[in-house]
Amino acid sequence: MVHERSFIMVKPDGVQRGLVGEIIKRFEHKGFKLVAMKFMVGSDDLFKQHYAALSSQAFFPGLIKFSSSGPVVAMVWEGVHAVAIARAMVGQTDPAASAAGSIRGDLCIHVGRNVIHASDSLESAKKEVSLWFTDKEIVSWASATESYVHEG
Ligand code: UDP
Repeated sequence: MVHERSFIMVKPDGVQRGLVGEIIKRFEHKGFKLVAMKFMVGSDDLFKQHYAALSSQAFFPGLIKFSSSGPVVAMVWEGVHAVAIARAMVGQTDPAASAAGSIRGDLCIHVGRNVIHASDSLESAKKEVSLWFTDKEIVSWASATESYVHEG
Protein backbone atom coordinates (compact mmCIF):
# COMPACT_ATOMS: atom_id res chain seq x y z
CA MET A 1 0.00 0.00 0.00
CA VAL A 2 1.59 3.29 -1.13
CA HIS A 3 0.92 5.93 1.52
CA GLU A 4 1.70 9.40 0.24
CA ARG A 5 1.38 13.00 1.37
CA SER A 6 0.07 15.73 -0.88
CA PHE A 7 0.27 19.47 -0.35
CA ILE A 8 -3.17 21.00 -0.85
CA MET A 9 -3.96 24.69 -0.61
CA VAL A 10 -7.19 26.64 -0.77
CA LYS A 11 -6.04 29.73 -2.67
CA PRO A 12 -7.12 33.33 -1.83
CA ASP A 13 -10.12 33.12 -4.18
CA GLY A 14 -11.31 29.91 -2.50
CA VAL A 15 -11.01 31.53 0.94
CA GLN A 16 -12.80 34.73 -0.17
CA ARG A 17 -15.59 32.74 -1.77
CA GLY A 18 -16.23 30.71 1.38
CA LEU A 19 -15.17 27.39 -0.15
CA VAL A 20 -12.79 26.25 2.62
CA GLY A 21 -15.33 23.94 4.28
CA GLU A 22 -16.49 22.47 0.96
CA ILE A 23 -12.93 21.70 -0.14
CA ILE A 24 -11.89 20.19 3.20
CA LYS A 25 -15.09 18.13 3.21
CA ARG A 26 -14.20 16.53 -0.11
CA PHE A 27 -10.82 15.32 1.13
CA GLU A 28 -12.28 14.11 4.43
CA HIS A 29 -15.11 12.28 2.71
CA LYS A 30 -12.75 10.69 0.23
CA GLY A 31 -10.94 9.00 3.12
CA PHE A 32 -7.72 10.98 3.32
CA LYS A 33 -6.19 11.97 6.65
CA LEU A 34 -5.39 15.60 7.49
CA VAL A 35 -1.89 15.77 9.00
CA ALA A 36 -1.14 19.51 8.85
CA MET A 37 -3.05 22.74 8.31
CA LYS A 38 -2.52 26.48 8.66
CA PHE A 39 -4.35 29.67 7.76
CA MET A 40 -1.89 32.32 6.63
CA VAL A 41 -0.95 34.96 4.08
CA GLY A 42 1.98 33.62 2.06
CA SER A 43 4.71 36.13 1.19
CA ASP A 44 5.75 37.01 -2.36
CA ASP A 45 8.98 35.14 -1.74
CA LEU A 46 7.22 31.99 -0.54
CA PHE A 47 5.02 31.92 -3.65
CA LYS A 48 8.01 32.60 -5.92
CA GLN A 49 9.58 29.45 -4.47
CA HIS A 50 6.33 27.50 -4.59
CA TYR A 51 5.76 28.36 -8.27
CA ALA A 52 9.48 28.49 -9.27
CA ALA A 53 8.96 26.09 -12.19
CA LEU A 54 6.60 28.66 -13.79
CA SER A 55 8.89 31.70 -13.44
CA SER A 56 9.32 32.16 -17.20
CA GLN A 57 5.57 32.21 -17.90
CA ALA A 58 3.85 35.47 -18.83
CA PHE A 59 1.23 34.92 -16.12
CA PHE A 60 3.87 34.45 -13.37
CA PRO A 61 3.91 38.06 -11.96
CA GLY A 62 0.11 38.11 -11.74
CA LEU A 63 0.06 34.65 -10.21
CA ILE A 64 2.50 35.69 -7.46
CA LYS A 65 0.67 38.97 -6.80
CA PHE A 66 -2.73 37.30 -6.51
CA SER A 67 -1.49 34.31 -4.50
CA SER A 68 0.09 36.55 -1.85
CA SER A 69 -2.83 39.01 -1.82
CA GLY A 70 -4.81 37.33 0.96
CA PRO A 71 -5.12 34.35 3.25
CA VAL A 72 -4.81 30.77 2.09
CA VAL A 73 -5.39 27.45 3.84
CA ALA A 74 -2.27 25.31 3.49
CA MET A 75 -2.74 21.61 4.24
CA VAL A 76 -1.08 18.24 4.03
CA TRP A 77 -3.36 15.28 3.34
CA GLU A 78 -2.13 11.70 3.65
CA GLY A 79 -3.39 8.44 2.20
CA VAL A 80 -3.01 5.71 -0.37
CA HIS A 81 -2.04 7.24 -3.75
CA ALA A 82 -2.86 10.64 -2.26
CA VAL A 83 -1.00 12.67 -4.91
CA ALA A 84 -2.65 11.21 -8.01
CA ILE A 85 -6.08 10.86 -6.42
CA ALA A 86 -6.02 14.47 -5.17
CA ARG A 87 -5.16 15.70 -8.68
CA ALA A 88 -8.08 13.73 -10.09
CA MET A 89 -10.36 15.25 -7.43
CA VAL A 90 -9.11 18.75 -8.32
CA GLY A 91 -9.53 18.48 -12.11
CA GLN A 92 -7.55 20.22 -14.86
CA THR A 93 -5.62 23.48 -14.49
CA ASP A 94 -8.30 25.21 -16.58
CA PRO A 95 -11.68 24.89 -14.86
CA ALA A 96 -13.39 24.99 -18.27
CA ALA A 97 -11.65 21.71 -19.15
CA SER A 98 -12.41 20.14 -15.75
CA ALA A 99 -15.09 17.49 -15.49
CA ALA A 100 -18.19 18.18 -13.45
CA GLY A 101 -17.72 16.44 -10.13
CA SER A 102 -14.14 17.67 -9.75
CA ILE A 103 -13.40 20.61 -7.45
CA ARG A 104 -12.45 22.97 -10.28
CA GLY A 105 -15.21 21.55 -12.49
CA ASP A 106 -17.82 22.31 -9.84
CA LEU A 107 -16.58 25.42 -8.06
CA CYS A 108 -14.84 27.78 -10.47
CA ILE A 109 -14.70 29.12 -14.02
CA HIS A 110 -11.36 30.81 -14.84
CA VAL A 111 -7.76 29.50 -14.87
CA GLY A 112 -6.47 32.50 -12.91
CA ARG A 113 -9.06 31.93 -10.17
CA ASN A 114 -9.09 28.15 -9.89
CA VAL A 115 -9.48 28.05 -6.07
CA ILE A 116 -7.14 25.20 -5.15
CA HIS A 117 -3.59 23.91 -5.51
CA ALA A 118 -2.65 20.23 -5.33
CA SER A 119 0.86 18.79 -5.83
CA ASP A 120 1.27 17.41 -9.35
CA SER A 121 3.78 14.63 -8.55
CA LEU A 122 5.30 12.85 -5.59
CA GLU A 123 8.50 14.83 -6.10
CA SER A 124 6.66 18.20 -6.05
CA ALA A 125 4.63 17.04 -3.05
CA LYS A 126 7.79 16.39 -1.05
CA LYS A 127 9.24 19.80 -1.99
CA GLU A 128 5.99 21.65 -1.28
CA VAL A 129 5.32 19.95 2.07
CA SER A 130 8.80 20.93 3.27
CA LEU A 131 8.49 24.45 1.84
CA TRP A 132 5.23 25.15 3.71
CA PHE A 133 5.62 23.08 6.89
CA THR A 134 8.34 22.17 9.35
CA ASP A 135 8.57 18.52 10.43
CA LYS A 136 7.13 19.51 13.83
CA GLU A 137 4.00 20.95 12.23
CA ILE A 138 3.11 17.60 10.67
CA VAL A 139 1.03 15.54 13.06
CA SER A 140 1.41 11.80 13.14
CA TRP A 141 -1.86 10.21 14.29
CA ALA A 142 -3.84 7.04 13.75
CA SER A 143 -7.29 7.53 12.29
CA ALA A 144 -9.93 5.23 13.78
CA THR A 145 -11.43 4.77 10.30
CA GLU A 146 -8.25 3.61 8.55
CA SER A 147 -9.17 -0.07 8.33
CA TYR A 148 -12.50 0.94 6.80
CA VAL A 149 -10.83 3.09 4.14
CA HIS A 150 -8.39 0.50 2.81
CA GLU A 151 -7.37 -3.12 3.28
CA GLY A 152 -4.05 -4.10 4.78
N1 UDP B 1 -2.19 29.75 -14.26
C1 UDP B 1 -2.67 30.90 -14.86
N2 UDP B 1 -2.71 30.95 -16.23
C2 UDP B 1 -2.32 29.91 -17.01
C3 UDP B 1 -1.83 28.74 -16.38
C4 UDP B 1 -1.78 28.69 -15.00
O1 UDP B 1 -3.04 31.86 -14.18
O2 UDP B 1 -2.40 30.01 -18.24
C5 UDP B 1 -2.15 29.69 -12.78
C6 UDP B 1 -3.30 28.84 -12.24
O3 UDP B 1 -3.78 29.46 -11.05
C7 UDP B 1 -2.63 27.53 -11.92
C8 UDP B 1 -1.26 28.00 -11.46
O4 UDP B 1 -0.95 29.08 -12.36
O5 UDP B 1 -3.33 26.80 -10.92
C9 UDP B 1 -0.18 26.97 -11.53
O6 UDP B 1 -0.14 26.44 -12.82
P1 UDP B 1 0.11 24.89 -13.05
O7 UDP B 1 0.38 24.70 -14.50
O8 UDP B 1 1.12 24.40 -12.08
O9 UDP B 1 -1.34 24.28 -12.77
P2 UDP B 1 -1.96 23.45 -11.55
O10 UDP B 1 -0.89 22.48 -11.07
O11 UDP B 1 -2.38 24.43 -10.49
O12 UDP B 1 -3.14 22.74 -12.16
